[in-house]
Amino acid sequence: MEICLVESNFIFALDWRKKASCRKLAVHLKSFNPFQREWIKSHIGFDSFDLIDPSTSDFQYYAGPLAHRELLRFKNSQWLAQNRLFKSLPFKVNENFTAFRKQAETHLPDYFSDVITLEKGVIKEQLDSYFRSSSPSLYFETRNSLMGKENRTDFSTLLSIGAVDVRELWNRVSDYERDVTKNKSTYWIKFELLWREFFFWHYQKWGRQYFSLNGLKGPLDFTPFPKYSLEDIKKIAKSDVIFACLNELENTGYMTNRTRQWFASYWMNDLSLDWRSGADLFERYLVDYDVFSNWGNWMYLAGVGVDPRGKRYFNLDKQMQMYDPHSNYLKRWYY
Ligand SMILES: Cc1cc2nc3c(=O)[nH]c(=O)nc-3n(C[C@H](O)[C@H](O)[C@H](O)COP(=O)(O)OP(=O)(O)OC[C@H]3O[C@@H](n4cnc5c(N)ncnc54)[C@H](O)[C@@H]3O)c2cc1C
Repeated sequence: MEICLVESNFIFALDWRKKASCRKLAVHLKSFNPFQREWIKSHIGFDSFDLIDPSTSDFQYYAGPLAHRELLRFKNSQWLAQNRLFKSLPFKVNENFTAFRKQAETHLPDYFSDVITLEKGVIKEQLDSYFRSSSPSLYFETRNSLMGKENRTDFSTLLSIGAVDVRELWNRVSDYERDVTKNKSTYWIKFELLWREFFFWHYQKWGRQYFSLNGLKGPLDFTPFPKYSLEDIKKIAKSDVIFACLNELENTGYMTNRTRQWFASYWMNDLSLDWRSGADLFERYLVDYDVFSNWGNWMYLAGVGVDPRGKRYFNLDKQMQMYDPHSNYLKRWYY
């Protein structure tokens, strides 16, 4: 499917089945604000314009060059397709992930028969190759590795640009469980997809508090926060690991979940920077940027989100001993 998107100065032809095209789009999307990104994604066919209801005041906060009426028009467009695991939630949005997961799991159908399946192309090959390998059955043990594509699913970029339907991914894991093996690892992949789901639905309830300094704790505080570039952080950071993270982010637009957590901890605890500036930096540099997962995770680590344990601190020396005992990550990315 070749789609040509034309919007003000933006003209882009996209074949979403081609990986190179997806990467190009991911990079391109970074120059747009979250509203525009969701609008563009909605045109690709797999994602929905669910970011923010333009009739709410959230719109005021994140308003970009797209006119209000245009947003409303596209919100009703036939292109919009829900790619979530539920069309609407058959239960109330809970306050925390565990409660959400328990409810979600009892309501999840065994199989999403209405899922849109990928026909052919590079993305299908990527998924086929992942599910042909033993990686899904080892995910629980490998998911904290700092490197190695076989150690993670690599679903996030596909999901963030709307190139794959999350229900397709859920089905593929279920197929693997039926045909190959069902274990803690396959459960954990679904568990992680539910985390993503949780942030989406949780956002629907909390809305713009996701962008407030005090998060869910209140009161609302939208005082402007400083914006940093990777170069700015290189000037003030004193940790080799953080330099490695910055280099990886700069070169690939990616960091693993573990290094994202370290980075956020260093950002808030060691550099004493505003968590919203960190979320904003990720928003600009991550190729898998997703508004709900990004702001939800930052808020969580800052201790103003859904984590009841308060602000998280990671001792980087200890973490490196545990997760990079032979300094492979540092050798690859610290220079
Ligand atoms: C500070 C911070 C910011 C983040 N920002 C983003 C973001 O902008 N976009 C994004 O997609 N993920 C974000 N994450 C979550 C997670 O780090 C990435 O989804 C994951 O590293 C992507 O690699 P993968 O696809 O190989 O994931 P895997 O580890 O293989 O996980 C499988 C899938 O589960 C979901 N998932 C896994 N962990 C999480 C999580 N903690 N929260 C929500 N969903 C999760 C993702 O869809 C992921 O693709 C962030 C995490 C942190 C700590």
